[in-house]
Amino acid sequence: ERSKLNRLKDTKATTLDGEDVNLLTNIEGPKDVAQSKAVSADGVGLYRTEFLFLGRDTLPDEDEQYEAYRAVLKAMPTKPVTIRTFDVGADKALNGAHSRSEPNPALGLRAVRYSLAEPKMFLTQLRALLRASAHGKLQIMIPMLAHAHEIDQSLALIEKAKAELRAEKVKFNEQVPVGGMIEVPAAALSLGMFIRRLSFLSIGTNDLIQYTLAIDRSDEAVVHLYDPLHPAVLKLIGGTIQAGARFGLPVSVCGEMAGDPAYTQLFLGMGLRNFSMHPAHILEVKQQILRADVGELAPRVQRILRMDEQARVREAVERLGN
Ligand code: PEP
Ligand code: MG
Repeated sequence: ERSKLNRLKDTKATTLDGEDVNLLTNIEGPKDVAQSKAVSADGVGLYRTEFLFLGRDTLPDEDEQYEAYRAVLKAMPTKPVTIRTFDVGADKALNGAHSRSEPNPALGLRAVRYSLAEPKMFLTQLRALLRASAHGKLQIMIPMLAHAHEIDQSLALIEKAKAELRAEKVKFNEQVPVGGMIEVPAAALSLGMFIRRLSFLSIGTNDLIQYTLAIDRSDEAVVHLYDPLHPAVLKLIGGTIQAGARFGLPVSVCGEMAGDPAYTQLFLGMGLRNFSMHPAHILEVKQQILRADVGELAPRVQRILRMDEQARVREAVERLGN
C-alpha cells in the first residue's frame, strides 16, 4: 500500500474534473523540510515557530530565529513558506521566567494576545522574519485572531520592523503577504474585518473545534465530545472557505482535519483548494483528490452544510468517499 502511494509522489494533485489542489505541509523547524520535499509538497502551509521556544528557559534571539527561518526558505526557494508567529500559551506553555499561571490557559494570554503583550519579543520575531523574507517566498501568519485591533496592532509592528530594517539598510521583501488564522468562532462569524486587512486566511480546525464546542482538546474526560463533523463546526469552516472565494482571498485549512483522508472530499466540495498537513498524510490525501469530481461533490456538500443532525452529517460525509 505504501509503495502504491509512493508512486503518487510526482503526480499533480488534480481532481477528475480538472481542479488543481495545493498540498502543503505543517512543520516545526528546518529538520522537517526534507520530509516535505520527499513527498513533493507544494510549500509549507504552517511552520509552528513556537517549537523554537519550547523546552528551554531563554528565548531565541533575532539571529537564531533568522537562521531557522532562512534555513527553511533556502531549502524551498521557489515554493511558498508560511511562517506563523509564536503561538505560545495554553498547550504550548513556556518554561522558566516566561511561564505564568492562569485560571484558564485556553482562554488566556496565548498566541497573538501573548505576542502583543510582549511587543519587544514580537518585534524581534518580526525583524527575523522580514530579514528571512529576502531568501524565498515567505508569508507571515498570525494565530488566534478574534479582533480587528489585533490585526491592526500586528500590522503596525510589522511596519515598525520594516522601517527599522530600511534605516539599517537590511534587505527584505517589502510585499511580504500577511495572513491570519481563523480558529476562534468569533473570527469565522465576522470574516469581513479579517478579509479587508489580510492577504490570506488559514483555518485552524484544532482550535476552531475546541472553541466552538467548548471542549479542551487536551482533556481526556471530554475528548469523546470533540466532533469535527458537528454541524456548527462545518458551517463555520464552509462559510470561511466560501467568503474567501467570494472576495478572492486564498484560504487553506491547516488543522488535523486537513490531513484526514476521510474529510478530503468534504473539503473539496466546500471549495477548498489549499490543504496543509503533516507530510506523512500528503499522499493519502492526494489519492482522494485524484478520485474526486468537484462538480459532483459541491451540491452534495451544500446539502450537508444545511443538515442539523450529527448522525445524518456523518452518514452523508461517509457516502461522499464512495
Ligand atoms: C489549529 O488550531 O488547527 C492549528 C493548526 O494550530 P495549533 O494546532 O498549532 O494550535
Ligand atoms: Mg491553533
